[in-house]
Amino acid sequence: KSAIDKSAIEPPVAGADTIAAVSSGSGGAVAVIRLSGPQAGAVLVALAGRLPEPRRAHLARLRHPTSGEVLDQGLALWFPGPRSATGEDMAELQIHGGRAVVAAVLGAVLAVPGLRPAEAGEFTRRAFLNGRMDLTEAEGLADLIGAQTQAQRRLAFAHAFGHLGQRVEDWRRRLIRAMALIEAGIDFADEDDVPAGARALARPEVEALQAELQAALADRRGALVREGALIAIAGLPNAGKSSLINALAQRDIAIVSDEPGTTRDLLEVALDLDGHKATLVDTAGLREAESKVEAEGIRRARARIADADLVLWVHDLSAGPAPEACPSIEVDAPLWLVANKIDRADAAPAPSAGWAVQDYNVSAASGEGLEALTRGIGGFIAARTEGEHPALIRARHRASAGQAAAHLAVALGQWERLDDELLAEELRLAARALGRMTGAIGVEDLLDVVFREFCIGK
Ligand code: GDP
Repeated sequence: KSAIDKSAIEPPVAGADTIAAVSSGSGGAVAVIRLSGPQAGAVLVALAGRLPEPRRAHLARLRHPTSGEVLDQGLALWFPGPRSATGEDMAELQIHGGRAVVAAVLGAVLAVPGLRPAEAGEFTRRAFLNGRMDLTEAEGLADLIGAQTQAQRRLAFAHAFGHLGQRVEDWRRRLIRAMALIEAGIDFADEDDVPAGARALARPEVEALQAELQAALADRRGALVREGALIAIAGLPNAGKSSLINALAQRDIAIVSDEPGTTRDLLEVALDLDGHKATLVDTAGLREAESKVEAEGIRRARARIADADLVLWVHDLSAGPAPEACPSIEVDAPLWLVANKIDRADAAPAPSAGWAVQDYNVSAASGEGLEALTRGIGGFIAARTEGEHPALIRARHRASAGQAAAHLAVALGQWERLDDELLAEELRLAARALGRMTGAIGVEDLLDVVFREFCIGK
């Protein structure tokens, strides 16, 4: 496999060498090997005997290029650049998915001079560098591959196919037009009428842009879909909080994730609730702190509840009727009453009068009422995420938009006082912050962060 002398390869430049990787997941009946770069066509000729017609599947015996041994029979596809996914010449081999088959064919591909294994995300990185997609589309693609709920899939799909990128580029174009008007004032500073007129023309556009940026920054729907809603389960000890979480986790699809930053000392479980990602947090033990460690746990639990999108107050019906009104806990999120243990003979009926919001009668033990609770939570999240796709999804997008808005605030705040040059500079900095979002300018430092998320073969 390492017939290639690594030291002979120039420092990686997009398109300099040809990359290959298995792009399909492991264990399937069919495996897909993708190639991108100037040697892609040569590999097809070497293994399949000829270059297939562009974009048509061609059934071929695949042979080792030097020994001539038949390794497998599969489909060969040829996608000449620049109208390919990466913008370079690309090839694809669809072969049998067995370990030995994949190892043999990949080994044969990599034995062709000029070939090397692709790094994680390298195909997408080349697509970006060749202008086939912007950075937000690349992120959308990563999210689409990682999507676990249907809501995440819908958001990621829109994002992957240009929704966010187009909005940001539209903002940036408008900003550049406003900047050009003011710069026209600089160029024509001798001619009396131009400067004042240019400023007056540019201001409403900058105000409109600022309003749109502020609205986008205030819209948290993207994060809610992508990260999932945070639902805190609160209530007195023994109300059945952990039983409820366990019952929901068994009924609904528990999303296994090892996302960094989730605190392990809080019982948390990510679920697919009716197509929406929701993370349930058990706030058990909030009141009994006996050790320092426990106190720290409680501090974190409180912080987590403060961030919650919804709090479920679990009440044990066998201990008496539910309180008439919501207990006072310091949260801004809506508080729902979930009256548990309705299976118990001594269960007292739950009053709902004092609760501003819906209540649910459930049994974590028998499963009764959980379907309705799941649908209720799903509906709650759906209502908070519906409508046109949000403009900003990741923290990176919010940071860029926030910087742009800060520069526009300076410009608008001192519109009449700033020199033309300084005013144009604030607009230029705002445009630059937006340009970083799509990768149109100044993003070299961001690329490793963005493409690190991908797996090999994408
Ligand atoms: P937590 O302290 O709020 O987390 O409560 P647990 O989930 O540990 O439950 C306390 C006790 O109530 C346990 O003995 C559970 O088996 C029991 N329990 C929880 N839910 C139900 C229920 O729906 N019906 C009945 N009969 N018992 C339940």
